[in-house]
Amino acid sequence: MKIHFHGAVRSVTGSKHVIETEQSRVLIDCGLFQGRRKDFWEQNQNFPFDPTEIDALILSHAHIDHSGNIPGLVKQGFRQNIFSTTATRNLCAVMLRDSAHIQEQDAEYLNRKRRNKDEEITPLYTSADAEKAMELFVGIHYGRKIPVTPDIAVTFYDAGHVLGSALPVLDVTENGKTRRIAYACDLGRDDLPILKDPYRINDADFMIMESTYGDREHETIDSAAEKLAAIVNRTAARGGKVIIPSFALERTQEILHCLRRLFDKRQIPEIPVYVDSPLAVNVTEIFRIHSEYFDQETMEMLANDQNPFQFPHLTYIRKVEDSKKLHQQRFPSIIISASGMCEAGRILHHLKNNIEDSRNTIVIVGFMAQHTLGRRIAEGRPKVKIFRKEYRLRADVEVMDSFSAHADRSDLIAYAKQASKQSRKFFLVHGEETQALALAGHLRDEGIDEVIVPKLHDTIEV
Ligand SMILES: [Zn+2]
Repeated sequence: MKIHFHGAVRSVTGSKHVIETEQSRVLIDCGLFQGRRKDFWEQNQNFPFDPTEIDALILSHAHIDHSGNIPGLVKQGFRQNIFSTTATRNLCAVMLRDSAHIQEQDAEYLNRKRRNKDEEITPLYTSADAEKAMELFVGIHYGRKIPVTPDIAVTFYDAGHVLGSALPVLDVTENGKTRRIAYACDLGRDDLPILKDPYRINDADFMIMESTYGDREHETIDSAAEKLAAIVNRTAARGGKVIIPSFALERTQEILHCLRRLFDKRQIPEIPVYVDSPLAVNVTEIFRIHSEYFDQETMEMLANDQNPFQFPHLTYIRKVEDSKKLHQQRFPSIIISASGMCEAGRILHHLKNNIEDSRNTIVIVGFMAQHTLGRRIAEGRPKVKIFRKEYRLRADVEVMDSFSAHADRSDLIAYAKQASKQSRKFFLVHGEETQALALAGHLRDEGIDEVIVPKLHDTIEV
């Protein structure tokens, strides 16, 4: 069989890998590449394979860098099954619709600005493509082995990364012999709020593994609440706002989970909390109907009437008018808004209105890819551009990686070591080059010899 590495290779976005046998071609993930506008268009528009020749798509989880180009695939002729967990399917229903909306708005904006009126820009994909994609989903729970093509079957295991996230394990049968490929992208962490711990795969022949934090350690999960409490207390005391750019999926719900506990323990003042993102509001609705994915602690909170997604002072905002009202408010508050990397959405308005006020704090709680506004803020650049205008970065910036839903260096090494009793070969993807190469070195130091860091569009025969 051949493995084609077509995305998130020596980078973190646009996950796309094809497993090819004599009989089938199965695509694992179909993520949106995020980055500079020109690269965004080129990389997302041009698939390095023919979408009509893919026999099935296996989707690990609903994050846009893994699922976001599914409507593009469908637009270009893909009509086969998309296998994912049920929660991933339901999350995609709201996330892909939202992504399509962003593509449509983006094209509209560019068409208004363009000089050459003959060259109309069409969106990467539309809401209709996203709706069509939803018809192809097949939802499967963890632990159930399902044939996806005549010679490939998939079993999903809990990745402990976001709601419904899976580690797909593919059983590929060729010439009467079956070999297992495990796909650990993205791999979560033990003890994350809300979720169960990642399932330990130890019987794969090949493992495609992420390396986002291949050379970095996170702060402990326990320290997150303490640090967030200190930030909220400090900012509220000087009358400022806490602005949290957050991914709509998982990070937002984890922060709410954390805030609920801090309020209950009276460790932070009772200031208003706003979730200002229609997407985050819709995603939180999906969390409410999928408690079967929750860990013990969250189940107990629900049983004790301590719903992490519903508490006094918490307001969900859908309407633009209500979002705009937040700009006029002068009292301390916490605003959680998307997008997570500050590339689009309402967070841009909150940043624009609050970034020059030193009473405020911007809390960076997620991974910020290169060339994003989020990355520039996290790096503490003195000036940043928002909507093409320059703003001075006067607000405090706090970077908290303790909320990270990705395994860190120690987690990845430990995971690979327990898996390597069986896994013969490791392919490291989903990490910037320095991180991927560093992790390869660490794994070799641990006695795992067969570690490969593919380059973009590499094909490796195994
Ligand atoms: Zn992810």
